[in-house]
Amino acid sequence: MPSPAYDPERELKDLEPWQRELREQFPIITGNSHLAYLDSAATAQKPQAVLDAVHTYLTTTNANAARGAYLWANRTTELVERTKDVVRHFLGDPEAGRRDARSGVHFTGGTTDGLRAVARDWLAGRLTDGDVILVPAADHRANHEPWLEVQRLLAARGVHITVRELPYQESSGDYDHRAFPGVVDPRTRFVAATHVHHVHGGDMNVHRIREAVGPDVPICLDAAQSVGHLPLSVARLDVDFVVFSGHKALALPGVGAVWSRDTRGPAFRPGGWQGTPNTVGIASLEAALRWLDAAGTDRIDRWTTALAARLTDALRRLPAYQVLGCQAGLAAGAAVQRRHGIVTFRHRDIPSDDLGFILDSHGLMVRADDLCQAGRTDGQGSVRVSVHVYNTVQEIDRLLTVLGELA
Ligand code: PLP
Repeated sequence: MPSPAYDPERELKDLEPWQRELREQFPIITGNSHLAYLDSAATAQKPQAVLDAVHTYLTTTNANAARGAYLWANRTTELVERTKDVVRHFLGDPEAGRRDARSGVHFTGGTTDGLRAVARDWLAGRLTDGDVILVPAADHRANHEPWLEVQRLLAARGVHITVRELPYQESSGDYDHRAFPGVVDPRTRFVAATHVHHVHGGDMNVHRIREAVGPDVPICLDAAQSVGHLPLSVARLDVDFVVFSGHKALALPGVGAVWSRDTRGPAFRPGGWQGTPNTVGIASLEAALRWLDAAGTDRIDRWTTALAARLTDALRRLPAYQVLGCQAGLAAGAAVQRRHGIVTFRHRDIPSDDLGFILDSHGLMVRADDLCQAGRTDGQGSVRVSVHVYNTVQEIDRLLTVLGELA
């Protein structure tokens, strides 16, 4: 996390030569420099290495995995197994590279699919009458609905569990750790949490959840906005499930993974017959994670965090705008920069969807709606700007020029 003396402008200057070289590797970005893609929290663009991996796989190796024993089938099976280890390595799993690794990697369709699989195929079979689970109620709907589905499923079988909301503080955009003791009790059996918030871009400090629930309660982490954006270490986070989407981490849509371990319960295994895996997606995921590793997730985080800081700092000087979450951090000199490449705001007079259209007419592609946030029923949208390694200072400044005119 940046220190209070953090200087985003210096970061941007230091990293600019490194970033310029990486940006060149994204054909959709360099081929459309009149546009600025500022919606990477929704989905990220793909570097040439990922496009090449997809092309190579489909033109040299394409076959089904774990079925058949001929050359291409074997190579595809190897690709799938190898990519599991690439995922382990990427997530800082100490068991990466070990033939006897006990941690599991299961490919899914994405985060939504992965969280639902953990809920249905692991959690539902482990809860008994009177158990309590803690779930986030102001995070992405993908990390809220599956847990309520478990509650309904069990209730239909006569098993009644309590679903409690993880206390959340709108003003800081973080969970309210001071209120944790009020929701944790000896019947707490599971916690679902988010690593980086998809609206506010803040790190949700999952270590505080671990402190509150103690060493025995499994934690499932929605890492949709952190994998591919910042270094992530499952060893340090001390969580039991990490769920993410490939497409937000520079790979193709339709592939994701559930990383899990069996230290606080049985191993996770998706239920029922597993059909053909998304082998092309897995090929893209292998290439994407290797590319991100070589680029350095630490530097990617520094770059995107500094771009977000530049935007937040400028918005703070424009009273027409209200930046959501982390309001406490907006005081001068404070760590407003604690946003991992995501900044969400509203104009005080212009409705957010109108603002989205205006920005689009200037070639600035942002997200403007309710951002799939659970519990958001006020009908008030917001505008989200989210960046990745290919975005530049000039793009943020182009955005700020238009926002400044509208202020
Ligand atoms: N969780 C978070 C935090 C997200 O930001 C998103 C997507 O925006 C999801 C889950 C759902 O991801 P997917 O649509 O890839 O399943």
